[in-house]
Amino acid sequence: MTTLREQFATNVLTVTKFRELLRRMHENRPNDDVELVRKAYEFSQRYHSGQQRASGEPYLVHPLEVALVLAEMKMDAVAVAAGLLHDSVEDTVITIVDIRKEFGEQVAHIVEGVTKISQIDFSSREEQQAENLRKMMLAMVDDIRVVLIKLADRLHNMRTLEHLQPDRQQKIAKETLDIYGPIAHRLGMGKIRGELEDLGFRYLDPIAYDQVGEAVESRRKKGEQFLSSVEHVLRDKLKEAGITANVESRIKRLYSIHKKLLKQRISVDQVYDLYAMRVITRSVQDCYAVLGIVHNLWRPVPGRIKDFIAMPRPNLYQSLHTSVITEEGTSFEIQIRTEEMHRMAEEGIAAHWKYKDGPVSAQDEQRLAWLRQVVEWQRDVSDPNEFLSTLKIDLYPEEVYTFTPKGKVVVLPRESTPIDFAYTIHTEVGHTCVGAKVNGRMVPLRHKLHSGDIVEIITQPAHKPSRDWLGVVRSSRARNKIKHWLNIHQRERAIEIGKKLVDKEARKYRISLKDIKDGDWLRVALEYGLGQADDLMAALGYGKYSARQVLGKLAPAAEAESPATGVEDESAIGSVVRRVFGGDHSSAIRVKGQGDLLVYRARCCNPIRGEAVVGYVTRGKGVAVHSIDCPNVVNLMYEPERRIDVEWGKEEGAPSAFPVKLTVFCDDRFGMLKQITAVISDSKTNIRNIGARTENGQANVEIVMEIEDLKHLESIIQGVRKIPGVHDVQRLQRV
Ligand code: MN
Repeated sequence: MTTLREQFATNVLTVTKFRELLRRMHENRPNDDVELVRKAYEFSQRYHSGQQRASGEPYLVHPLEVALVLAEMKMDAVAVAAGLLHDSVEDTVITIVDIRKEFGEQVAHIVEGVTKISQIDFSSREEQQAENLRKMMLAMVDDIRVVLIKLADRLHNMRTLEHLQPDRQQKIAKETLDIYGPIAHRLGMGKIRGELEDLGFRYLDPIAYDQVGEAVESRRKKGEQFLSSVEHVLRDKLKEAGITANVESRIKRLYSIHKKLLKQRISVDQVYDLYAMRVITRSVQDCYAVLGIVHNLWRPVPGRIKDFIAMPRPNLYQSLHTSVITEEGTSFEIQIRTEEMHRMAEEGIAAHWKYKDGPVSAQDEQRLAWLRQVVEWQRDVSDPNEFLSTLKIDLYPEEVYTFTPKGKVVVLPRESTPIDFAYTIHTEVGHTCVGAKVNGRMVPLRHKLHSGDIVEIITQPAHKPSRDWLGVVRSSRARNKIKHWLNIHQRERAIEIGKKLVDKEARKYRISLKDIKDGDWLRVALEYGLGQADDLMAALGYGKYSARQVLGKLAPAAEAESPATGVEDESAIGSVVRRVFGGDHSSAIRVKGQGDLLVYRARCCNPIRGEAVVGYVTRGKGVAVHSIDCPNVVNLMYEPERRIDVEWGKEEGAPSAFPVKLTVFCDDRFGMLKQITAVISDSKTNIRNIGARTENGQANVEIVMEIEDLKHLESIIQGVRKIPGVHDVQRLQRV
């Protein structure tokens, strides 16, 4: 229960804030109808009444503060009203239906979007987090006001974070740095981004925050003196040149200093742009004139001059940047831009928000286009880690600026290659690119591009993307286009192979595939947890299941008649060996990073445990494991993308046994066979088969035995070689 006195105090506080809100709206958008806002205020006052925030303040203060931030962004009445109502569905008995009835479709739509984002838990498992981010991106594309309200909401929550428990503080601060800061950055909202990041930094890493803060504080007095003296010098020169401009200076923000220190492993004194000066001019021409004056006064630091006016950043930021050094050796950064550019840099997408004054500006369209593209590019990314890392590249573009031969600027993430460049031009150019000329010279496709490079892509119509490219490209656009292509084409091939395999297997049992009904294919596909018959064929083609298994499920009679368990397409001897001695030893080998692939030891080299092996993805029969010395490997590896890393699994339970065949070349004398078998059985080795041929007093003895590993085999070979009359022992690759 609240007392009358408390009620009164609450009213005074909130009414004062509401008046301020109306005043600010009137200042920024005098033509907006504030009735909607007044109604929203009264509505949320009614439903949040009696609720308190962690700070002890009446809850209503929060929506009011959020609305104030929005009014400061010059947002329209619809957005401000939605800001006032943003927590009402989440925290009161109100439903979206009520909001729609009272405030109309637009407000309801925005409140619904904000409520959805609020329910997202960004600290959840990675997959979940990726999915949630995706939802947020979709909400942004739907109506950007949703995200602007969310940013205003987050800003006020960060400003009042001190009232929460430390674990909540950490979680919210991390989310702010991971998600809301980057989004504000991408939308060009420098001011909000700066405040969000510094607050996030303060709560997430209080020790580092204090350290950087102290380092800056101890230099502040000297720094301010320094800045005011150089400001003075510059103002005089500008006056002399007849240029009207606003000069201001500041010490860099703590979070951006912190990031520089971490990244470059330097001390605070080595940060080039610890001190920053900003010159706001009346025209673009003046910007370049000021740059000339600055470089006349102080020596520029090589490589630090950046013309973001001619080449705006992807978030449309425009400015001239340069770092200079005074004669005393102090460096500072100067940013030069027009008033319009400055407003854009501070407010970003909010700077041009004019729902009532006509269509969205071309620049906003460009920003929204970016958002749509990101959502589009990320649509096919199923790996959450990859989604997050590519999203981070998109949100924090550390970009290089390259050019087409015709002078068009192509902005790419750092370390991009000609392949990235090609995909930015056009998907088809990407798919068919075979080489590139950078600044007139031929370069390999994995060449890293630098700012200023002029890139000419060479294409060949029949050329196709390669899986290797995935390891080279940096832009998510290129990456996703390549993956998409590979998925479609590999799948088609796998389906084809799958069909052939089943057909071949079926013919062994004299079954015609025509007799199998579509419904049966689907039934078996569903049994494997696959959606359709084509998925089943693809899985067969990739070697996940054997054709015999699948056929067994389709036609159980065939299974009953089948000779024995084993892998299809074995030679007759192979099947016999399997039947007699049982068991394949493929389980002894593991494919790195994959669990469900069919693995078998290649019959050409028959590798045994301990030997260096390599896997090769066959067309439709799973992974063949070869000894690294196998002559076939060299021939097979012309398709390097089919090579796969395999390793011997840990020995579990009964020791595995690999059949190995040896040929012993020896004298044909009495007792020779007995001596050989004695050496073998002394080392507790099973002999599966033994046979001999004799000719002119010489004998060839062929022995098939069960070998545990390479060491075991070598000790037997050595033992046999020591027998008098044995000339040579050779391992036959085929058993
Ligand atoms: Mn809120």
